[in-house]
Amino acid sequence: MKKFLSILITLFILAFFFGCSPKKESTNQFIAMDTYMELKAYGHHSKKAIDLATDEINRLDLLLSTGNSESEISRLNSLGYGYVSDDTSYIIEEALLLGSDTNGALNIAIYPLMELWGFTTHNYSVPSKSSINNILPLTRLDNIIFAKETNTIILKNGATLDLGAIAKGYTSDRVIDIFRKEGINSAIISLGQNVQALGRKPNGKLWTVGIKNPDTNDKRLGNKDIIGTLSVEDKAVISSGDYERFFIEDGKKYHHILNPSTGYPANMGLTSVTVVSKIGILADGLSTALFVMGKDDALEYWRNHKKDFDAIFIEKDGKITITEGIVDCFSSELEYEVGH
Ligand code: AMP
Ligand code: MG
Repeated sequence: MKKFLSILITLFILAFFFGCSPKKESTNQFIAMDTYMELKAYGHHSKKAIDLATDEINRLDLLLSTGNSESEISRLNSLGYGYVSDDTSYIIEEALLLGSDTNGALNIAIYPLMELWGFTTHNYSVPSKSSINNILPLTRLDNIIFAKETNTIILKNGATLDLGAIAKGYTSDRVIDIFRKEGINSAIISLGQNVQALGRKPNGKLWTVGIKNPDTNDKRLGNKDIIGTLSVEDKAVISSGDYERFFIEDGKKYHHILNPSTGYPANMGLTSVTVVSKIGILADGLSTALFVMGKDDALEYWRNHKKDFDAIFIEKDGKITITEGIVDCFSSELEYEVGH
């Protein structure tokens, strides 16, 4: 009888820990890559997974930040050539591929223009047309000579790199990789406007991700913080918008996503683009590139890459358009069109 009882108790304890117990939640909130980050993971090793992920984000920040003169990217920019880590090399490779695929809308050689507009120092001013024209040749993508076999880069003609459009998407992919390795199958992270979900919520339901309202003063977009929600699993949901970083001069707004062919802030009628994809680096690169392209060209690009991503476009006139792949997971009280 005693033996029977002790087996029963052991079984009960095992069931409690491996089956019936709520999954252990671990979280962390901190500032890195110039933005507020929140990590949340569920499972027995969630604390270790969150610690490893936090270390990884800080390690990548040290490599990729142009704001830190000691970073790998800053060293490369000041020397004009060099050997880079596998991480930086991979990001540059992906960015160049996406750059040529989007006809140069994504351009990681944009840094000299970001400096000219004052976005790197917060010392903003609208440059003269002639100073923009002087800088534009520096931002040509063919100034970047990249040998991926040896991780070496040469920057010709004074070109410098800015990985800001794509680095956080790469980082969220790395965090999800770490979580998977640690046996986590339920997590959600937000690195500023970059959200990435692993699996489903611990209760088996889909994760709900809010799509930020780019202008709460615009009545057509409602007055809530979000314009709608997406229900997702194993997806990155990444937004780019003219509301994130901008300055106003003479009553006109100048934002941080530049059109590489004009040198001016992209002005194709969009105020926000959200990209939904399994791959964070792709979603991040595309959210910036599609913003530059404008809705019509972006929808055309999507038609040719439907299996890779979906998107939500918000235009300055208040119009919302979503692509057909997310019809079933998008919900909003506002009117919206579906792009086919
Ligand atoms: P995101 O918030 O992902 O759209 O990235 C915007 C950041 O990417 C800016 O703050 C710049 O650092 C950089 N950037 C701006 N315009 C471009 C562009 N056309 N291509 C690549 N990077 C850009
Ligand atoms: Mg981006």
